[in-house]
Amino acid sequence: MGQSSICDVLVAGSGAGGFAAALTARLHGLDVIMVEKEPLFGGTTAYSAGVIWIPVNSHQKAAGVTDTREDALTYLTHHVGNTLDRAKAEAFVDNAPAMLDRFEREGFAAFTLAPTWADYHPDEPGGSQGGRSLGPDEYDGRALGSWFTKLRPPIKTMTALGGMMVGRNDLPHVFRMTQSLQSALHVGRMMARHFRDRLSHDRGTRLVNGNALVARLAANAFQRGIPLWLNSPMVELVYAGGRVRGAVVERDGKRVEIEARRGVVLACGGFPANGELKQRLYAHIAEGKGHVPLAPSGNTGDGLRLAQSVGGTFHEQVHQPAAWTPVSLVPQPDGSIIPFPHFFDRGKPGHISVIRRGRRFVNEAKSYHVFVPAMIEACRDDPQAEAWIVCDHRAIRRFGLGALGPAPMSTRPFLRSGYIKRGRTVRELAEACGIDAAGLERTIGDFNGPARRGEDPEFQRGTDAYQRFNGFPDQKPNPCVAPLDKPPFYAVRVIPSELGTFAGIRTDANAQVLDGDSRPIAGLYAVGNDAASVMGGTYPGAGITIGPAMTFGYIAGRHLAGAGARQLHSTP
Ligand SMILES: Cc1cc2nc3c(=O)[nH]c(=O)nc-3n(C[C@H](O)[C@H](O)[C@H](O)COP(=O)(O)OP(=O)(O)OC[C@H]3O[C@@H](n4cnc5c(N)ncnc54)[C@H](O)[C@@H]3O)c2cc1C
Repeated sequence: MGQSSICDVLVAGSGAGGFAAALTARLHGLDVIMVEKEPLFGGTTAYSAGVIWIPVNSHQKAAGVTDTREDALTYLTHHVGNTLDRAKAEAFVDNAPAMLDRFEREGFAAFTLAPTWADYHPDEPGGSQGGRSLGPDEYDGRALGSWFTKLRPPIKTMTALGGMMVGRNDLPHVFRMTQSLQSALHVGRMMARHFRDRLSHDRGTRLVNGNALVARLAANAFQRGIPLWLNSPMVELVYAGGRVRGAVVERDGKRVEIEARRGVVLACGGFPANGELKQRLYAHIAEGKGHVPLAPSGNTGDGLRLAQSVGGTFHEQVHQPAAWTPVSLVPQPDGSIIPFPHFFDRGKPGHISVIRRGRRFVNEAKSYHVFVPAMIEACRDDPQAEAWIVCDHRAIRRFGLGALGPAPMSTRPFLRSGYIKRGRTVRELAEACGIDAAGLERTIGDFNGPARRGEDPEFQRGTDAYQRFNGFPDQKPNPCVAPLDKPPFYAVRVIPSELGTFAGIRTDANAQVLDGDSRPIAGLYAVGNDAASVMGGTYPGAGITIGPAMTFGYIAGRHLAGAGARQLHSTP
């Protein structure tokens, strides 16, 4: 062994889960070391929209939203069903508001409530019509100083003009910039700041989404003296005398043993980059069908392996092993491809999604986690699980299509690279895509008649608050439905991907790793996607991975400090 170090708490992984655990432990006066496998920090969290799902949060009152613990638990019980771990669900609902209050008070986090952002199944018992999802406030990356260059940048296809971030609050302005002076000014200000930034930085420093979230957490961690070792994977746990006492980390090619007096927190972000595990758990991959991951390549399931090496157990009995999203593949000038996740465009008016036979298969305005299993099922007998998002000229100019933004963004480079297909007629488009032409003509013909009245008799698009939230308010009478009748027509192909994994290490309400007899392993915690999802493999609302990641990080930090696990709504 080359060197050794000592701390109270050792955290592996620098995403939302890791930082939340580290900052909470530090708040309680503990000495913390964070280690990160990759040369960049932030993990999948940095790629994300940074949205958190926090029932009964204190922002709701000001927004006039009513919510209760009982409603939230009813919703989870109903939606997750018999895979719900009731004790963990209660720990989440009880601690999440306290975590948010405490983090906002300390300046570790800053969020804005989206009061009309409904749960993904808002009409189920206990579902919310809006008020449980919060988005991170903008953050100035320059506050990170020299660490800014070590922050994982967002996925390239989700930025514009060489690294300019576009957040959820910016999108309505982007859609309206050619129609509204206020929106044109908003976009103009964003661009001016970006071009100024580019004189001194490799990318824009106006951070939004998950970059803003993780940068704010990191800046606070650094200010509070938490060291973060980059390029330093945790490779082994040190287990002796019936507890985890630390871990071995590889740093600069040397093995360093770190003693952790209180314990080790695994926050390595699950296994979205572990081909072997995915081959076993993802049915479509096992059948040889295409799948492109979005998560960083370092998320290879190290946390699971480490936990299992000391008796921890892997919980696979979840509805879905991962949080699905459809992605299109954007060709890059160097010949590589970068995936683009389709969160919002599927349900916009003037867009529909079809499989190779040219027929629709799902209510496109439902969540990405509903869309992908429906696509896989509809393509059960096909060589690939794939679909095409199809729209007309009016819709593409208004909303864009995948990585192509709305007008005035030029369609030309996307057509040239083959990312977007175009046809002067529906038949021509179908032929360009390799879709059954008669099938697509029939589908669009059948869709357009009722769509002119704002109706979708086949899938009832636009019939709940979540779908309408993602629609376009100016589209009357249904913000999610418009006919596809303005040629030319366009399409982009999508295949399955995941936002992160749901199957994971079995943990209890204190975030402690459980052994085969359901006993906590002393000194070992797992949070974020390393832990089996408290949502049981379902996706109840926006922010249901990062909300729990931060909450169980907070719970782990408190438990390590001996502060007790339960923190009913009021904060200390
Ligand atoms: C485009 C996109 C948008 C998304 N938007 C949202 C959203 O708005 N809300 C939401 O809730 N979820 C969202 N998700 C999912 C969300 O980003 C993840 O579920 C979440 O960030 C996982 O957090 P984490 O802390 O568990 O892991 P991560 O953020 O992935 O961090 C794990 C870190 O651990 C490191 N690591 C791995 N192995 C080791 C090791 N052996 N030693 C040390 N370090 C190690 C990794 O390199 C990584 O940096 C989105 C995902 C994507 C891709």
